[in-house]
Amino acid sequence: MRMRFDIVTIFPGFFAGIFEHGIVRRAQAEGLVTVNLHDLRNFTHDRHRTVDDRPFGGGEGMVLKPEPLAEALASLGIASKTNRALQAVQAASAVPQVPQVVLLSAQGRPFTQAVAREFATLDRIVLVCGRYEGVDERINELYCDSELSIGDYVLSGGELAAAVVVDAVMRLIPGVLGNEASGEFESFGVADIEISAATDGVPRSQHGAGGLLDYPHFTRPAEFQGVAAPQVLLNGDHQQIRRWRREQQLRKTLANRPDLLAQAALSEEDRRILDFLGWRKQ
Ligand code: SAM
Repeated sequence: MRMRFDIVTIFPGFFAGIFEHGIVRRAQAEGLVTVNLHDLRNFTHDRHRTVDDRPFGGGEGMVLKPEPLAEALASLGIASKTNRALQAVQAASAVPQVPQVVLLSAQGRPFTQAVAREFATLDRIVLVCGRYEGVDERINELYCDSELSIGDYVLSGGELAAAVVVDAVMRLIPGVLGNEASGEFESFGVADIEISAATDGVPRSQHGAGGLLDYPHFTRPAEFQGVAAPQVLLNGDHQQIRRWRREQQLRKTLANRPDLLAQAALSEEDRRILDFLGWRKQ
């Protein structure tokens, strides 16, 4: 599968370097992912290449004007949502998958691993980066399928958020990570119940997060600045390693993200450990 990201931004240069390292670079080199940058100023028609204007009603800051954004989207073959719906009805069958147009916004729905998994099934995602006070709301209404926030804080622009989305989604595309399954076995991963129930065999490098946080990882040296790596990881007893890792996941999730426990896939063994750790289900 190949996935295409289009990023509409007033700062295409911002992304120089970001997509040129590690897994993102390799995924592009192998043709699994393409990331196209589109400079919003190329869709202006005045001498100053103006992309912003003062807000109606007064107030602080500037707002990204709707016309250049609409033109940029049109150049990517993105019609308004109404027209897309009409086209889909007319085309009836064999409709190519409609790209998701996503507006990065502090007011959006939270970007989570579940959303990343959902996006990783698409052929194409168009990411619209706001700046200043944001984007004229009519662009959201007319063109955007969703508003997405990467966290409860305000960034100066959508570019960092877009980079976060590309990174998190891209690594879930089959073939991008060396080990096909590894995205499923990290923090917030879903593929776990069968694995956590497995009691023998060589443990995977990650043992299935099941909606929990990942367990801590250690590598050589066995002792670092007077702190030893856990003995259990060195003794080759896979069953003990599995138990220890699961307990660490539970401990870490309880300490840092107890909210995740309510939705996590928990075995009887997990519940016993959580009871011991003093977890009280809400
Ligand atoms: N006035 C906006 C508000 O209070 O929600 C903040 C605008 S912010 C300074 C400029 C742009 O940064 C936004 O249009 C959006 O594209 C991006 N942005 C800011 N915080 C974000 C977040 N948490 N997640 C995603 N994008 C964000």
